[in-house]
Amino acid sequence: MKTSGDTAVAIQIASPVARSTRQARITWGLRTVTVGGDAPVRVQSMTNTDTVDAVATAIQVKELAQAGSELVRITVNTPEAAAAVPYVREQLDRMGIDVPLVGDFHYNGHKLLTDYPGCAEALSKYRINPGNVGKGSKRDRQFGQMIEAAMRWNKAVRIGVNWGSLDQELLASLMDQNNQRQSPWEARQVMYEALITSAVQSAQRAEEMGLSGNQIILSCKVSGVQDLISVYRALARRCEYALHLGLTEAGMGTKGTVASAAAMSVLLQEGIGDTIRVSLTPQPGESRTQEVVIASEILQALGLRIFVPSVTACPGCGRTTSTTFQELAKQIDDFLRTQMPVWKTKYPGVEALKVAVMGCIVNGPGESKHADIGISLPGTGEIPAAPIFIDGEKVMTLRGDNIANDFQQLVEKYIKNRFEIVK
Ligand code: SF4
Repeated sequence: MKTSGDTAVAIQIASPVARSTRQARITWGLRTVTVGGDAPVRVQSMTNTDTVDAVATAIQVKELAQAGSELVRITVNTPEAAAAVPYVREQLDRMGIDVPLVGDFHYNGHKLLTDYPGCAEALSKYRINPGNVGKGSKRDRQFGQMIEAAMRWNKAVRIGVNWGSLDQELLASLMDQNNQRQSPWEARQVMYEALITSAVQSAQRAEEMGLSGNQIILSCKVSGVQDLISVYRALARRCEYALHLGLTEAGMGTKGTVASAAAMSVLLQEGIGDTIRVSLTPQPGESRTQEVVIASEILQALGLRIFVPSVTACPGCGRTTSTTFQELAKQIDDFLRTQMPVWKTKYPGVEALKVAVMGCIVNGPGESKHADIGISLPGTGEIPAAPIFIDGEKVMTLRGDNIANDFQQLVEKYIKNRFEIVK
């Protein structure tokens, strides 16, 4: 086939589109974190401790915050939990953990926020589920009480609709309307409409009561990937509120990780989603912080945020009969992650570092040259030597039994030379 350079059209460089225009502000003490607008997409998480145990809850919030969570939600379900919230905040302040707390309320939030002013004050944001604020005539009154608390204490709210607890009266009414249509929608489409209507109408009601639009974040969570994409595309078209994004009940392990990444990546690429949470069920013994790591990785993979240096490693193949390069890739990855809490302040900008750990000569030197620092390990049958590339140039070759530790030391030295603040 003939080709002509004259007719060539530059391939468009993919990048996420602009996010929502509405920005929400979340405050605690004198501090503020912004969500939406030109703010970076924020990582959220939620504890699974009993909030009544203020010390255990504060410790888990600390772990989540240190893993990179920028907002942490805690359960506030009983008077005892509400009474414990100020102590959780106090413990965090004492430990120097600078993260806003979000209270998760269902059924009795109106009462807890009224009866426990210390709780209302210590929280930075209230999560309100319109499907769980009350039924019939109580619904508007109890929702109103929560909005009044937000206004009194100058707090943000997330109006968080979930298809597992959707307002059944609203759904029934929309189903009735749908039956009157000449061409009725599918039941699934009516459910989408109910989710969005519940969120948007509740937000409008909050604004009518006097809450600023900059204190409102919306979410409409479902557990199906295509459902989430459909709902959030429509929600983003229908309102200008900052949006919290997440696949609810994503599941465990690989399934939960992949489903969350698949759904959220499509939407984030389209500029939809200002905060995210990965609702992962922890594997037995797994740290709760795993959901923060995955959320951060999704944002970093899309180029929306940079949290930790990236390690490019090949998958290995028949040319690598040893596990040396896998072990080295893991060693370097673990090393970079564990050092980050210290390096963040000691070596500003280090999170943008790119390291390559490659298994053989086929792509090893090429990929290593694209990285800031890279190593190309010898594949099966190759001379047992590992060339090192720094800033695109081959600078040395490592040999012997200590290649892994030698390379780690080279990485550390590179970081110190490049990122250390010279006073
Ligand atoms: S770089 Fe070499 S070892 Fe790694 S996947 Fe490619 S061919 Fe296989």
